[in-house]
Amino acid sequence: MTTNSVAKPTSQQAFPTLEEWCDCGNCLHMPSPEECVCCRHAEFVYPNLEDHQCITQIESFDNLILNPDVLALSFIQMMMFKRQCGRDQLNSRQSRLVAYIQFVCLMLKGERHGKSNRVVIPSCVVRKIRDVS
Ligand SMILES: [Zn+2]
Ligand SMILES: [Zn+2]
Repeated sequence: MTTNSVAKPTSQQAFPTLEEWCDCGNCLHMPSPEECVCCRHAEFVYPNLEDHQCITQIESFDNLILNPDVLALSFIQMMMFKRQCGRDQLNSRQSRLVAYIQFVCLMLKGERHGKSNRVVIPSCVVRKIRDVS
């Protein structure tokens, strides 16, 4: 890998502006630079974009990631997998977590994501999930 990428103009901690890192138009500013990831630049998301501008626009996103019934079922399955009973009511924090897991599963289609590169959920996805739960 070559390292002659563009040098940072200042020595200050560069916090990218939204225009610099978002190309889908749906991202929001995130609290840390590491979280500033757009769906159009996330390696594990990009192959799923097809001709959509943003991953939150694909049909299965609404059906599988935002639908509370689907999330409730996934939660029960997770509980069964962990051999716990699905007695717990799904609170909004858990339901967001399930939605994130569901999203990563959908994007990777069961493939393992390299351990070295941590999965960062794109900002537009975080925003959508937060809006509904
Ligand atoms: Zn974006
Ligand atoms: Zn997006």
